[in-house]
Amino acid sequence: MIRSWTGWRVSDAACARRGWLRVAAFAGAAAALAAVGCSREPDGSTPGTTSSLRVVATVAMIGDVAREVAGDRAAVTTLMGEGVDPHLYKASPGDVRLLAQADLILYNGLHLEGRLAEVIERMSSRTKVVRVTEDIPEIRLRRLGDDSSQVDPHAWFDVSLWRIVAARIRDAMIAGDPGGGERFAANALAYQTLLDEVHSYAAGVLASVPPANRLMVTAHDAFGYFGATYGLEVMGIQGLSTDSEASLQDINTLVDTLVSRRVPAVFVESSVPRKTVDALVEGCRARGHALVVGGELFGDAMGPPGTAQGTYVGMMLHNVEAVARALGGVVPDRRPAAIEAYMRRFASRGDR
Ligand SMILES: [Zn+2]
Repeated sequence: MIRSWTGWRVSDAACARRGWLRVAAFAGAAAALAAVGCSREPDGSTPGTTSSLRVVATVAMIGDVAREVAGDRAAVTTLMGEGVDPHLYKASPGDVRLLAQADLILYNGLHLEGRLAEVIERMSSRTKVVRVTEDIPEIRLRRLGDDSSQVDPHAWFDVSLWRIVAARIRDAMIAGDPGGGERFAANALAYQTLLDEVHSYAAGVLASVPPANRLMVTAHDAFGYFGATYGLEVMGIQGLSTDSEASLQDINTLVDTLVSRRVPAVFVESSVPRKTVDALVEGCRARGHALVVGGELFGDAMGPPGTAQGTYVGMMLHNVEAVARALGGVVPDRRPAAIEAYMRRFASRGDR
């Protein structure tokens, strides 16, 4: 079934293609991912700060922000690594151990984490558990379809909302380690300043997409906030999973839309069967419309740890620029200086 974002519903099936899971404990990367502007001794140590607040985050979009806020004052571990689908994720015995040892557990909530959230919520009686989205004003959460009790959990696709999340994480860390308060506050402020730049940059770049091309077709319905915030209509293909597939009629309906609106590109994502996207391309070609695949987007997971795309900022930049390029927008040769400076950390690893 094809739905616009207004008909979006939390669909395990649409999100689910990946059967593997991994516990990615990359607290050791904290130094490489140190907060922008984080003041530090030349040797990387933090004077007089021996706290080792143990923070466990569910998804990498949260873990990365936590790492930025923590600097080297806390050890941040992320349960779900590259390519892992949070909707279907089940806690492994190793996860439960990590969670049990944590001083602070950070999760998205809003039904993103599925069954893992149940495990986490049960731990809240003895461990500090924070739903990082809890300070986002209700009015800014996207409610879904006819059932307004359902909320779209993919809030990270509006950078201005993830700025609020950074503040929530800061406050949680200060509560858990008051001695690190100044450090956490400074790191969070620097990171929020960077996010402000990313938000403006994203809006500017996506504003360059011609009005007629402002339709983003993906099969995974994670991009409702992205479209609403940056001015794109979003359509997702539902029912594309290992146990159900889009019908021929669904594909034909979508082809009609793509052809009639002369949309130049559609997008794949690791949770989306490629053959369905190919069917759209073929269908459009048969109707004389040259549709291309506009690249792979990061939806519910980021790229590999230690790369630019393995950071929240890098993930967003990748998506924004891929969408703009594919839909006829203009991506500047150089990003704003603060963003370039942040991304230069990863230049040696071959990422832009
Ligand atoms: Zn999702």
